[in-house]
Amino acid sequence: MKKNRWHWNERTRLLLTLELAVMLPAAALIVFMALRLKSIQRDRQVEAVIQRDFYEVLAISEKHMSEKAHEMVDQVRYQFPSPSEACPESLDTLLEQHPYAAHVFLYNPDRGLVLRARQERMNEADFRAESEDLMKWLSWTKFEYSGVIKEFKEMDSKGKKPVFFEHKWVPRGDKHAYQSVAIFLAPHTPGQEPTIGGMAFDTEYLRDRFFPEMLNSLINRNLAETQSDKSGHSRAVMMLHVKGESSPLATSADWDGGAPEVERNLETAFPGLTLAIKLHGTTLASLGQRFIRTSFLILGALSVLLAAGILLTYRNVWKEVALARLKSDFVSNVSHELRTPLALIRLYAETLEMGRLSSQEKYHQYYSIIRKESERLTALINNILDFSRIEAGRKEYDFRETDIAELVRNTLESYRYQIEQHGFALQESIADDLPPLRLDREAIARSLLNLVNNALKYSQIEKYLGVTLYRDNGSVKLEVVDHGIGIPHGEQHKIFEKFYRVGDPLVHNTKGSGLGLSLVRHIVQAHGGDVSVESAPGKGSKFTIALPVNSGAGGGSNG
Ligand code: ADP
Repeated sequence: MKKNRWHWNERTRLLLTLELAVMLPAAALIVFMALRLKSIQRDRQVEAVIQRDFYEVLAISEKHMSEKAHEMVDQVRYQFPSPSEACPESLDTLLEQHPYAAHVFLYNPDRGLVLRARQERMNEADFRAESEDLMKWLSWTKFEYSGVIKEFKEMDSKGKKPVFFEHKWVPRGDKHAYQSVAIFLAPHTPGQEPTIGGMAFDTEYLRDRFFPEMLNSLINRNLAETQSDKSGHSRAVMMLHVKGESSPLATSADWDGGAPEVERNLETAFPGLTLAIKLHGTTLASLGQRFIRTSFLILGALSVLLAAGILLTYRNVWKEVALARLKSDFVSNVSHELRTPLALIRLYAETLEMGRLSSQEKYHQYYSIIRKESERLTALINNILDFSRIEAGRKEYDFRETDIAELVRNTLESYRYQIEQHGFALQESIADDLPPLRLDREAIARSLLNLVNNALKYSQIEKYLGVTLYRDNGSVKLEVVDHGIGIPHGEQHKIFEKFYRVGDPLVHNTKGSGLGLSLVRHIVQAHGGDVSVESAPGKGSKFTIALPVNSGAGGGSNG
């Protein structure tokens, strides 16, 4: 009862410690992570992060595109002829040098409006129409001249380039195509009125060369710096379309169609166009779902690992606790076992010393008691010494070719007196045709004695001891049978563990250290064999040592 309560306390404390120190924090962490993932899923945060990246990429891209367009316009602007020199030839040269320009034009009140189109395209009807259109459109320059010039000067004084862009739709067959027109302040010529200059981008050049090249370089340049590319899953692709239309005007090389994730209406160099970005081969939503799914999977796996870890720790710690308990039992058992024979020896020795015994027989009886008790002490101490050698890994065996039948017979013979004194009927059955085995004589004899001793100790009513030695296929078997108290089924695998004693009151009242069977098992296993038990409570037990014939039980090994 008392033992049970102790057992319980120990277990509860262990459980509490594990729960408070490990399980609670771990469980809290897992729950926290799960909740967090849930909220990420709800708020679509993963998608939001990539989307933010995309917005950034588009903003940077617009900036790069507009810088590039400004550079191109500047090249034309700096080489712009002064109004007095502006003639078809000088303007043609300008167009020749800058293939991306389809038309150049200028206006000031002195010269009026001068427009020159790329001559080699003038045989195309669409292009001619485009040129005429532009000429008409430019009539605003006359009316808004002073306002525009004022605006340019303000821009100039603020350090901004005096350039702005307009977009136009130019006829192409029965459709219209996008064109961007740059209007700027032409370089100033002293003594002349300020001049409005301008160029119209070549529509086909923009569509077929400038935009695709720009988109590809933007993808490579911007995305190398942003997260979505580093994660390695999918790269981004971009396209450009007319605002309000969905079909692309130009795309980056591996555009795979589908709806863009994020768009940005361009305002600076290419007004009227929209820049769009998406992931190649997937969508943000499915990417987010995949992230959440893998996160949950990882979390699940971690939880399982954690649970397994806790279980393992619990089992190990519990084993240690149980062993510590067994050790403390062992100490008290052994002290008890040492004290009894010593007390007996002292008692009989003192009696003998007084020399007052009546008969020679009595003397003889007392001497034999002293001898027996000291033999018991020796056996116990041998067990303990063997055990400590085994524990330290220093137990050595002396394997020699041995006639095991003779060994068993001799061992029993030297013990027969005791067996009979205890009132046991000994039944021996030893086969004669056994092959010689390589054995450590002393160790095997000790194993047999341990088994015989247990049979004597744990038999109360029916005092029977049977020892049988026989050959069974590839092994020689040594059986020790009793009709004693037996061992409950659930305990049978534990009794071979060190210090273990069955928690039965019948056993508790019998002296023992819990070492005997663990030694037997160690010794037998060192011989390459094994020991087993069959038992039923109240009916008796049968221990069987099986030793392999021709076991190469390598000489002198230890366990
Ligand atoms: P000890 O006998 O010193 O306690 P052992 O290692 O020899 O230690 O035995 C371990 C336990 O196995 C014993 O305490 C006892 O409960 C049980 N046991 C061993 N042999 C027998 C047997 N022949 N009959 C019943 N129980 C036994």
